[in-house]
Amino acid sequence: ALPATPAPVKTTCPYCGVGCGVLARPDGTGGAGIAGDPAHPANRGRLCSKGSALGETLGLSTRLLEPMLRLDGELVPASWDAALGAIADAFRRTIEAHGPDSVALYLSGQLLTEDYYAANKLAKGFLGTANVDTNSRLCMASSVAGHKRAFGSDTVPGVYADLDEADLVVLVGSNAAWCHPILFRHLEAARERRGTKLVVIDPRRTASAEEADLFLPVAPGMDSVLFAGLLAHLAEAGALDEGYVAAHTSGFEAALAGARALAPDVATVAARTGVPAADIARFYALFAATERSVTCYSQGVNQSAQGTDKVGAIINCHLATGRIGRPGMGPFSLTGQPNAMGGREVGGLANQLAAHMGFSPEEVDRVRRFWGAPNMATREGLKAVDMMAAVGEGRIKALWVLGTNPAVSLPRADEVREALSRLDFLAVSDNVRANDTLACRPHVLLPALAWGEKDGTVTNSERRISRQRAFLDPPGEARPDWWALAQLGRRLGHADAFHWRSAAEIFREHAALSAFENDGTRDFDIGGLAGLDDAAFDAMAPQQWPVRMPGDGGETRFFAEGGFFTPDRRARFIVPADPAPAAGVDDAFPLVLNTGRIRDQWHTMTRTGLSPRLGGHLPAPFVEMHPADARALGIAAGDLVRLASPQGAAVLEARIGDGPRPGEVFAPIHWSDANAAGARVNALVAGATDPFSGQPESKATPVRAEKV
Ligand code: SF4
Repeated sequence: ALPATPAPVKTTCPYCGVGCGVLARPDGTGGAGIAGDPAHPANRGRLCSKGSALGETLGLSTRLLEPMLRLDGELVPASWDAALGAIADAFRRTIEAHGPDSVALYLSGQLLTEDYYAANKLAKGFLGTANVDTNSRLCMASSVAGHKRAFGSDTVPGVYADLDEADLVVLVGSNAAWCHPILFRHLEAARERRGTKLVVIDPRRTASAEEADLFLPVAPGMDSVLFAGLLAHLAEAGALDEGYVAAHTSGFEAALAGARALAPDVATVAARTGVPAADIARFYALFAATERSVTCYSQGVNQSAQGTDKVGAIINCHLATGRIGRPGMGPFSLTGQPNAMGGREVGGLANQLAAHMGFSPEEVDRVRRFWGAPNMATREGLKAVDMMAAVGEGRIKALWVLGTNPAVSLPRADEVREALSRLDFLAVSDNVRANDTLACRPHVLLPALAWGEKDGTVTNSERRISRQRAFLDPPGEARPDWWALAQLGRRLGHADAFHWRSAAEIFREHAALSAFENDGTRDFDIGGLAGLDDAAFDAMAPQQWPVRMPGDGGETRFFAEGGFFTPDRRARFIVPADPAPAAGVDDAFPLVLNTGRIRDQWHTMTRTGLSPRLGGHLPAPFVEMHPADARALGIAAGDLVRLASPQGAAVLEARIGDGPRPGEVFAPIHWSDANAAGARVNALVAGATDPFSGQPESKATPVRAEKV
């Protein structure tokens, strides 16, 4: 039971990657008063609309509170023992008959680091498959791949304080005003205080663009042309840091030649990007002249068939100017989810192992020895889109989904729903009893703890590890996800490896693995935290890695003096490919669909949908189109519009505005059959993937629109 104390519990917001600290004061009846934590460095007491409405989303009205098992076609309440036994039987039988790669886990950036660690250890060390991927694949996989290509590691160089200290902030594919609101508040304060200039690069005129000094409405997918042109301009303007380039990088000459070929002059960049040449020239001159420049990028960069190249083209410009790892300077990936970073730290992607290690023979052997693992996966598993294709083709026969709603969120959502419904065995862990994935005839449902009940850690966009703490008692039979995963490990005969009794024990093991045989050539090392006892873990204050122990006042930024994690410790410039849209428009599908988030909803609305206040912002599923397109199609604001692609269709309410460029439409991703039948926008998205990251393109699907 929780201590009966009037003191608020310090925890972390469960929504975006800003990772704001929250003070929760339970009211004794299942609710809680919510306030921002003034002591948390990410938000300094502020909360955005979603965070401040968290108290309205507590309660048990939609909760799954007991395990369910399908018997004779019907889901019936069951004991944990029976439900876990069914999963163990199904996984054991499937592996015996079809091998370890016939089973898979599909996870979520909503899971705590300890849940992620348990899932990865179970699958990659004991089931023998790396088929463990996550909805974070849809969020920041291109940034991970871009960081690894350039830095040799998945390291975010900067910190939030850089936004306070920059003279220029460039937002690329990021509507931070809505999607990272508290960071945007930091930026607004810096603009007032020091006159920080803001450039927004986005196909859509967003709330962030409205605030910008300069808005560049770039054509979808053409960001790397824009940044190739910037690199060429920096060379011509004499704005390079030749000392940094010579001392700490390799591949600059090839990158510059590639940039000049892709973007020989501003006129070419203007023609490719659709941005007026004069605005491009202003941006280039501003960037060249402003040493303290931060370039923040988010889903508009990542959710792209060219996402990794876009990240590389941005990083090139910071390496070339030496603007990295110093106050107010650097490329900065803004992660979408509350724990996309923590998941990465423990190997929560099919192409990673654990503690930022990959699948080289040395790394596999190191992790094998640390875990004492009998069935180590020795190669990468299937990434999210490929995993669901394998489900559809029958190559994956047993799947456990934890904390996510792939029947809504994955591209080709109709096909995904069909594939999930046909699985030989599907288990789903969730804290709601109804959503589109739970409608896919799972064989087992497991009741998970929700925010406010869970206990563990998350890592935000600036590498800051914060505690999520429980302030409500577990309801019904709900249990932590790590506990359910460990129980499966024990049932499969690995009791010693899955002995944990608390999140603290898992965190200590995770921290120890990060330091195991780590001579400093791996970026991720939080081994100093491996010795925390339970009380110290409970009291742990938010802290960044690299972890600084008492007395160590060292730098928390990376790479100001080089020290990259490549074999020669030099960063790599990359040569981005000439971008081409994954699919072009034609007469049948003449518009380009861009998908994204709105200010007051989160993912598939299972939590934010409970708040009337949040629902009042944009209450119905909609498609926004330019007035010229609406006129041509005879569509007026408020009309119902059928939006269709070769993959699927959705019926949405028309909103008319100059947000999208002519020929492009925008639709949010949040609605589903569970709350607005026929409005699943990801049913339209094709799912072409980036060749390096496997992240699907969500920003450029050819569609047609017609009034219903
Ligand atoms: Fe939560 Fe993000 Fe809002 Fe902070 S900015 S309160 S983390 S949704």
